[in-house]
Amino acid sequence: QVVVVGSANVDLVVDVPRHPGGGETILGGDLRRNPGGKGANQAVGAARAGGAGTTFVGALGHDDAADLLLASLDGAGVRTDLVERVDVPTGTALITVSPDGENAIVVAPGANSHVRVGAAQAARIAAADVVLAQLEIPLDVVRAAAAARRPAALLVLNAAPSRDLPRDVWDAIDVLVVNEHEAADLAGATGDADPSTLAALLLERVPAVVVTLGREGGLVAERRADGPLLTTVPATPVEAVDTTGAGDTFCGVLAAALARGADLPDAARLAAAAGALAVTRPGAQDAVPDAADVVALAQR
Ligand code: ADP
Repeated sequence: QVVVVGSANVDLVVDVPRHPGGGETILGGDLRRNPGGKGANQAVGAARAGGAGTTFVGALGHDDAADLLLASLDGAGVRTDLVERVDVPTGTALITVSPDGENAIVVAPGANSHVRVGAAQAARIAAADVVLAQLEIPLDVVRAAAAARRPAALLVLNAAPSRDLPRDVWDAIDVLVVNEHEAADLAGATGDADPSTLAALLLERVPAVVVTLGREGGLVAERRADGPLLTTVPATPVEAVDTTGAGDTFCGVLAAALARGADLPDAARLAAAAGALAVTRPGAQDAVPDAADVVALAQR
């Protein structure tokens, strides 16, 4: 079983000829309304990866955005019975996309600031093999989720968006998943340290690190009795259409594979194939591939 604790947002997306400056109004294309948010995206990723039951612990408002998110989560087979409804608008991301594909994003956290690990959520977490969290929710929620898990369960933290982490949160992490920018931030690295240097630095704080490297694949670093073990995760060449949600798909599929008992390098290979497929499709949750397609690509 996987429990994903995190954010859910409605993504309001508009294509623009260029990003507006202060005080400026510009006309864009038609509005798209997509289910998103790192937590909800990752829950969809884990559920579509199949095999493990996936629960999403999050908070939504009483609005159309909440309905959109619940339909997407339910449609992917995520258990949503522990999602709480609060009197605050559902989290919303305002996204403009320029012709070169660059995003400018403002997030209004809304209900995501009210995610809670109450007794029911703690009980579900206590039954999980893997607890997956990100940093779009208050750190106290991550702490509470970590505290509720069984000793044998893994806490996988996707430290995105990256921020300084207190010592007790570092100590709770079993597997840290970061992209190259987040790795540099968290490692406090200056200049252009290469990914294996960043992974080695982070391995001083957590027992295992996965660094995702976009089109280059990724890197797994594990602490072992005889020293650090680094494994390269090969890239899967694909035609990129929309990279939104690649990292979230990666995290969800990784968590599901770990819950099924895969070792970290194998789980990361599967996750990378899923991430690659996700970039071939538009949207975030809508772009998450099915398990069979991922396995076929990973074995190619
Ligand atoms: P994030 O979206 O968090 O920055 P990445 O861009 O590193 O994360 O993407 C996560 C994973 O998705 C990568 O490790 C890789 O496996 C896959 N991926 C992302 N972009 C591409 C791409 N252009 N081609 C192939 N695989 C990709």
